[in-house]
Amino acid sequence: MNLTLEEIQNFKGKYPKQIWSLFFSEMWERFCFYGMRGMLTFFIINVIFENSTLKPAEKDELANLQYAAIQAFVYAFTFVGGLFADKILGFRKSLFWGGILMIIGSLILAVNPHEYFFLGISFTVVGTGFFKPNISTMVGKLYKSGDTRTDAGFSLFYAGINLGALLGGYLCIAIGKGEMLSHLIPEHKRWNVAFGLAAIVMVISLVNFIFTQRQLGPIGLQPQRLNADGTFSALAKWNEYSVYILSLVFIPLIMIMVSVPEYTDYFMWTVGPLTLIYLFYEMTKVSSSERNKLWAALVFIIFSIVFWGIYEQSGGSLSIFAANNLNKDLLGLDPNGVNNSGGAFFIIFLAPIVGLLWIWLSKRKLEPNTLIKFGLGFIFLGLGYYVLFATKFFATLQGITSLNIFTIALLVITFGELCLSPIGLSIMTKLSTEKLQGMMMGMWFLASAYGQYVAGQIGAGMAKVKTGANNYDALITYTDGYKQLGLYALIAGVVLILISPLVKKLMQEVR
Ligand code: GLN
Repeated sequence: MNLTLEEIQNFKGKYPKQIWSLFFSEMWERFCFYGMRGMLTFFIINVIFENSTLKPAEKDELANLQYAAIQAFVYAFTFVGGLFADKILGFRKSLFWGGILMIIGSLILAVNPHEYFFLGISFTVVGTGFFKPNISTMVGKLYKSGDTRTDAGFSLFYAGINLGALLGGYLCIAIGKGEMLSHLIPEHKRWNVAFGLAAIVMVISLVNFIFTQRQLGPIGLQPQRLNADGTFSALAKWNEYSVYILSLVFIPLIMIMVSVPEYTDYFMWTVGPLTLIYLFYEMTKVSSSERNKLWAALVFIIFSIVFWGIYEQSGGSLSIFAANNLNKDLLGLDPNGVNNSGGAFFIIFLAPIVGLLWIWLSKRKLEPNTLIKFGLGFIFLGLGYYVLFATKFFATLQGITSLNIFTIALLVITFGELCLSPIGLSIMTKLSTEKLQGMMMGMWFLASAYGQYVAGQIGAGMAKVKTGANNYDALITYTDGYKQLGLYALIAGVVLILISPLVKKLMQEVR
């Protein structure tokens, strides 16, 4: 089936048919990623540190720092993956290479997670960097510029992300801890099977992508070299091989950086400025209209750091809050389980509905533009954090409060995520020039790395304040902290709306 780009982009109906294939490849990749992410902290504390002489609190602290470092590196590598996709590999080969590295990483962990933990994780970090940004960019390519159905497509794709996140996040750790299939898997093999499952689903993701490629026409093919006479020719093979070799060279470096968390600080302080300098350099090579759009993209990227810094409390302080300060008044469910998977659960149902709402509004010329959607994202995030604050009014003197109210907060925050995260993916594809698509998508995810990093610092700050406090005082400290964060989110939303006329000018015809 040799489709042209025109034929793909002139699809009828609400979604291009290729989006479903990309949806499934990304779903399985996120299963692998979130499956592994869900096991990290628990595995480090209980298996890696099993015979260590560290005190329990020290184990917790180190494990949290290592977890945060791994998260930061994963998202930081998306910039590298996006950049090499633009310049050398193209999106398809990048995605494939990333997938293979992720499979190798999970297989290493499946064979001997105890011995080769950091090696396996480092393969996964680099692999995700090559996979994650480039599949999102390909979704954008299914749409003509200006197609009002784009945001809805990204919302649907986002549902796939979260379906994978929910399944992987739940199943892998449950198998590893022996809460599932324990009668079938001998105790000493449980972690091997859990990590092995991540490898299997990643194979499914890649096999699915092999079939998808046939329907993608020219989308994601390798870039070509422009010759002096105006014709194009294929890049020399050594370019491609150099990228493969270089990415393997990164693996031992990441192993060292992840195992000593202080290195992450240095890394984070250098990588951001370097990528900005590189972006500014690329900006000198484009037309002024294209440059203005890149400035606008940068504004969205910077705001997203604030968003994720607040949002990502879920992996840190909110999980401690859930463990110590919540009851089980929601159907008897475990508060940590709800905290880990509630957001993804809501998104799976809400994302397609919100996507269709955008289409419905756009037909009536009422669809808010990206700036307003981002602003709404912050406002919902802020309101959600105010609901978290409000849990204190339902607390007992023992410092235990309602999981129901907490879940309402998650729902409100999820609306915020849906106004910002898929819309951010979409706007990156609209504002980037043709040659910088992968890199800009990588920058979007790099902002998440900073968000994770900031979130860790905020969470650690709150944990320090409550040291030595009883459970009720700890609840007050946390909820007051959430009120503060809610206020910051609202301020960010208002600032964004205030500067929107300026950003709109930079965006020109893009909505
Ligand atoms: N949860 C989304 C995903 O995994 C968004 C992650 C992010 O950008 N921080 O794709």
